[in-house]
Amino acid sequence: MFYLTEQFFSIQGEGKYAGVPSYFLRTGGCNLNCPGFGAQYEVDGEVRLGCDTYFAVDGHFSSSWEKVTSSDDLTTHLKNEFDKIGYVPDMVITGGEPLMYAKDEVFYAVVKCMVEHGVNITFETNGTVDIDFEKYPAYKACTYALSLKLENSGEPEQKRINKQALKSIERYAKEAFLKFTIDEVLVNTTAIEEIEAIREILPKMDVYCMPVGESRDSIWKNDKAVFEFCMKHNFCYSDRLHIRVFDTTQGV
Ligand code: SF4
Repeated sequence: MFYLTEQFFSIQGEGKYAGVPSYFLRTGGCNLNCPGFGAQYEVDGEVRLGCDTYFAVDGHFSSSWEKVTSSDDLTTHLKNEFDKIGYVPDMVITGGEPLMYAKDEVFYAVVKCMVEHGVNITFETNGTVDIDFEKYPAYKACTYALSLKLENSGEPEQKRINKQALKSIERYAKEAFLKFTIDEVLVNTTAIEEIEAIREILPKMDVYCMPVGESRDSIWKNDKAVFEFCMKHNFCYSDRLHIRVFDTTQGV
């Protein structure tokens, strides 16, 4: 059993495949909280801090999440959706942290069925889950957008960096790339040292940097600094197309 918080057809807005029409599955729950990202929300009068997808992270919202107990029901639904779309689109499985469910029988059956159906799957992951690629070989056929968290996430290093998990993805996965969300402050302080430390673990992996921002306004505050940072260090700049187009609207 796993939780889905939303599913929708849209265009991938970030990373290597920005601009590609994609079907999104967003799972519920995460093994991190990232209080440093500063999204504030209220639960029973208590102010909590999290990331911009706190609604898919904090178990408090689980009553509104869909419990997926049958892989057949979900894969039949997905194939019907693809029929309506008129082609088999790429799929992005995001969260929360989708790979929290890597060993879940229902979750794996959905991934395996989609891979066998010819779907290109990208996992948007924080890279902390050590996947058993030998036991669950369908994961080898997927792409991993490794959205590793830096110090500004507010999470301790031992929680947000798992060398073993990263080396395993590098070794087995069809494709993986690094994706960092940074702001003007980080660009001018620790970003490059932190990214270089991660590249010591994954020296050959492409690096994409995108501006922090849950709205058009906040992206505008950071995009130029990130743009110049990428030029200086030979990283790829990634915009956040869905926010540019739809601003703060969810599920698009
Ligand atoms: S790892 Fe990602 S989804 Fe989880 S709390 Fe941090 S930013 Fe949010």
